[in-house]
Amino acid sequence: MDDIQESTQAATIAALKAERDQLLTLLKALPDISFVLDAEGRYVKVIGGANEAMYASGKSLEGYTLADALPPAVAEACLTHVKQALHTGEMQTLEYQLCVADVALLPPSVRDNDHHQAEQWFEGRALPLPSYDHSKPVVLWVAVNITPRKQVEQYWREAAYTDPLTGIANRRALFEQAEHEIQRAHRHHRPLSLLVLDIDHFKTINTQYGHAQGDEALRQFTQCCARLLRDTDFMGRIGGEEFVMLLPETDQLGAEQLGARIVEAIPTLDVPGMNNEHRMTVSIGAATRLEGEGFEHLLVRADDALSTAKRSGRNRLRVDQAATR
Ligand code: GH3
Ligand code: MG
Ligand code: MG
Repeated sequence: MDDIQESTQAATIAALKAERDQLLTLLKALPDISFVLDAEGRYVKVIGGANEAMYASGKSLEGYTLADALPPAVAEACLTHVKQALHTGEMQTLEYQLCVADVALLPPSVRDNDHHQAEQWFEGRALPLPSYDHSKPVVLWVAVNITPRKQVEQYWREAAYTDPLTGIANRRALFEQAEHEIQRAHRHHRPLSLLVLDIDHFKTINTQYGHAQGDEALRQFTQCCARLLRDTDFMGRIGGEEFVMLLPETDQLGAEQLGARIVEAIPTLDVPGMNNEHRMTVSIGAATRLEGEGFEHLLVRADDALSTAKRSGRNRLRVDQAATR
């Protein structure tokens, strides 16, 4: 090689190194943390993580493997994605949960930090780095802390399925759960019953004691019912003072017994602010699923039984008899 060739090559190498250093500086300045990981899941280099509120320094991980550092399930999922990225040459993404306190190789001062005791969500992006100077193929793994986004999503998901006044399932949640229970009962030939509840003369409670007191009565009503339900039962508020209970694994007799207990319990409630003489009462319609029956039809039968209960004087349970005919 002559002098000119040698100096051109040296210049190219210097330019490439300068470019690499610039890129590393860029990564260091980014708020998210990045790792160069090799095909065996070894941390070759830890870069960045400038946002200290979101990331613990990972410098102490260099030279160790994912399996050394992380809980087994997380380590395995990450390694699978590293291998997949190297195999396909395409970027792979993975959402995973991790508690910084569980990262075995971090110093105790970091792991014991109060901020790091809670489970956090990360999005890992693995991108092959073909020309990296290392004995094995490597990927760049960028870990983005997506905990705030997950928390907002969780908040709205819960809000979309919760009745804000009583804290129980709303109409949407109840209908979705009902479809699920119908499928389950159908698949496994298991009994399923339904109660539809409607508080009696609720308008009078509102006009006599005010709307706020009516709200409090609704909360007390809900809590009283919840105390009588089994863990597998599901209660939702489907209208102002109308509720539905899904009772899996419950035949007509079971539904009748629960309904009777609720009718009995509601008038014993002492709603704060309400006249002691005034007793809240409820009317209930019950129906037990017939072979092949869908939710809509079952609900109509329970609703009809509820109308009969109202017409027969309220404060009572009526059971649709189709199941016994
Ligand atoms: P019935 O015995 O026939 O069921 O009579 P009712 O007065 O309970 O029946 P109706 O369905 O006519 O009235 C329900 C009332 O519930 C009307 C409405 O103002 C009231 N209501 C609906 N939602 C709420 C709520 O969130 N809070 C309060 N305080 N009242 C509500
Ligand atoms: Mg009503
Ligand atoms: Mg009513």
